[in-house]
This record gives sequence, structure tokens and C-alpha cells, in this order.
Amino acid sequence: MGEELAFITEAVNSGKISGDDPFTGRCQELLEQELGVGKVLLTPSCTHALEMAAILLNINPGDEVILPTYTFVSTANAFVLRGAKPVFIDSRPDTLNLDETKLESRITSKTKAIVPVHYAGVGCEMDAILAIAAKHGVPVVEDNAHGLFGKYRGKYLGTLGAFGTQSFHETKNFTCGEGGALLINDAAMCDRAEIIREKGTNRSMFYRGQIDKYSWVDLGSSYLPSGIASAFLYGQLICWKDIQASRRRVWETYRARLADWAGEHGVGMPTVPDECEQAYHMFYMIMPSLDARQALIAHLRQEGVQAVFHYVPLHRSKMGQQFGGKEGDCPVAEDLCDRLIRLPFYNTLTKSDQLHVIDAIKSFRWT
Ligand SMILES: *Cc1c(COP(=O)(O)O)cnc(C)c1O
Repeated sequence: MGEELAFITEAVNSGKISGDDPFTGRCQELLEQELGVGKVLLTPSCTHALEMAAILLNINPGDEVILPTYTFVSTANAFVLRGAKPVFIDSRPDTLNLDETKLESRITSKTKAIVPVHYAGVGCEMDAILAIAAKHGVPVVEDNAHGLFGKYRGKYLGTLGAFGTQSFHETKNFTCGEGGALLINDAAMCDRAEIIREKGTNRSMFYRGQIDKYSWVDLGSSYLPSGIASAFLYGQLICWKDIQASRRRVWETYRARLADWAGEHGVGMPTVPDECEQAYHMFYMIMPSLDARQALIAHLRQEGVQAVFHYVPLHRSKMGQQFGGKEGDCPVAEDLCDRLIRLPFYNTLTKSDQLHVIDAIKSFRWT
């Protein structure tokens, strides 16, 4: 923790803590400058940023949206809320990102968006994805909840598609409890994005003195975060390089100290392709089997270590099945989700706690 609480006090004392307060503006400017993005709008969550992208792209009932099956539900739900049908793509076995070789055959005349997720903050194969998207005239929305400040071929993740979406949920690298941002890389979308975020009104233009009264002009909702949340977030973002450097140390310590153990036992470690600079969001391992994964989680729990797994592949979920998802559709994701384990990884993880996690893993008795 740095200046988060001091900034909250400053926000409260300023008497302006509703949306588009000074701290929201400061966070947006910081992100615009650091990432080189034309426009950033903070939102109450990444889910809301995805919903804004869906409205901006005029997603309508019957449209199709292509996304990885191995992701959080919001990647799909934001588009399903507008009536779209999600089309689920299997994972690459190395990065667990959407397998770009399976993308083009799933594009139809109804496809209105492609939504890659940079899993664990490691970039998807964006050259291939953007080329296929451009060929078919389909916009790309990057769900970059894991990947803020990660790069693909030297460019920041979230800045490659028409839109990028960020999360500042407590579980992400930078947080304000609940929070998010929409990165707008297409300048033509900025005015409408502001309107959608302000309940479908042109209030932002009114505040800037561009019009003399504001009114209802489009679809919209309330997609502004409170100034209290933004003040906290600003305290995090101003030291983003320190936060990323300490997360990098955690990641590299896991990797260095577990590599031999993993090699001896057939445990898979994360892959980061040469063209990617990762965002150090997560450290996961791929165990040889579901049984071994469950046994390791139980063993770690006894050692006082909470390790978790995640993502029921969406095509397998109750909702995904209603959209036609069937067992066997995405064999790579179906296999990996049973074997993946995430190790404790958060900004306040101490070195001694991390070494305890590593010792506990190495004391696992294989059966
Ligand atoms: C966390 C997460 C989200 C949702 O973020 P919120 O800010 O909680 O709405 C969306 N997509 C992915 C891939 C996530 O990990």
C-alpha cells in the first residue's frame, strides 16, 4: 500500500466523489499516456467495459461472437446480454490462449466480434487473429483483464483491437476492490462511448461546454465508477512499475525453484512465447492428471497453503450447453482445466510465505 488512503481522503474532502471526479480523470490520463491509447474510460468493472463494447458494436439478437471457451463468464455474458450467440474456440496447448488456427473456420456472415483473452497476461497470437479479423471485417475486442502492461511484439495488450477491457477487481494486478476500464483504440467510437457510459445522455459534452443542455440521445447505462474507488486505484497506478517488478520477482522465483521438480514429475510450467512480454498475472502449473491435481491441492491445504483452479470451460457450463456446447467440442481446454493449479500470487505475498509454498509443493508425496 502506498498513497491509496491519502488519495481517498483527498477525494472525500474535495466534495466530488460521484463519477468523472478528478481522480477518475487522473487514472484515465495516466493509462492513456503510459499505454499510448487515444481514450480510456474507467468503468465499475471489466464486465461493464465488455458490455459497453457490445453496445458500441451494435450487437443484436442472432449475432455471433467468437471467444475462447477457457475464460471467465463475463467474456461471453456481456455479449449474450445483447442477444448474441457465443461461439466457443478451443485453447492452444502451450499458452492456453484461444487457438488462432481454429478461428477462421468459425466465422460466418453473423459474426460481429472476436474476443480474445490474454490468459495469465500472456498475449494471444494477435498477428494471426487481427489478420483473420481484418479479412472478414470483424472487430476485435481484447479482454485484457489479466494483461495490463503486458506486450505483444512491443505493443501493449489491450491496444491492438478496436477495444481493450481491463479489470481492477481485487484478484487482479492493480485493484480498487471492483473496477475496470475500456480502452478505445478507434477514435470514431469515443463520443458514443461517453454517451453510453452516461446513461445514454450527452452529459460529458455538456460538462465540456460543447452543448448548452444535455438529454437522452442513445442507449446507455451507468458505467461510471465512484471517485472513492478511482482515488484508491490512482494510488496503485502511480506505482505500477514497482507492483509489476515485485510480481515479476514472485513469478520468476516460482519458475526457478520449481523447474527441476516439475521436470522430474512431468508437471507443465507456463509458456511465454518470444513475441510476448507477459504481465505477471498468475503462476499456474499443469499436473499430469486430475487425481494428482486434487491430491496436491489437498496436500497444500494441510500445509496451510490455498491453491486453486479455475474456469469450467464455457461450452461445458449450463449456459454454454444452451448455446449448443457439447462435451468433446474443445478437447484441449477440457483436458487442461482438469489439471491446472494456480499458486498463491498476490501483491502482498512475502518471500518467506512464497518459500513455504514452494517447500510444501516439493514435500508432496506422489502416489
Ligand atoms: C476478472 C475477469 C473478468 C471480469 O472482471 P470484473 O472486473 O470482475 O468484471 C473478465 N474477464 C476475465 C478474463 C477475467 O479474468
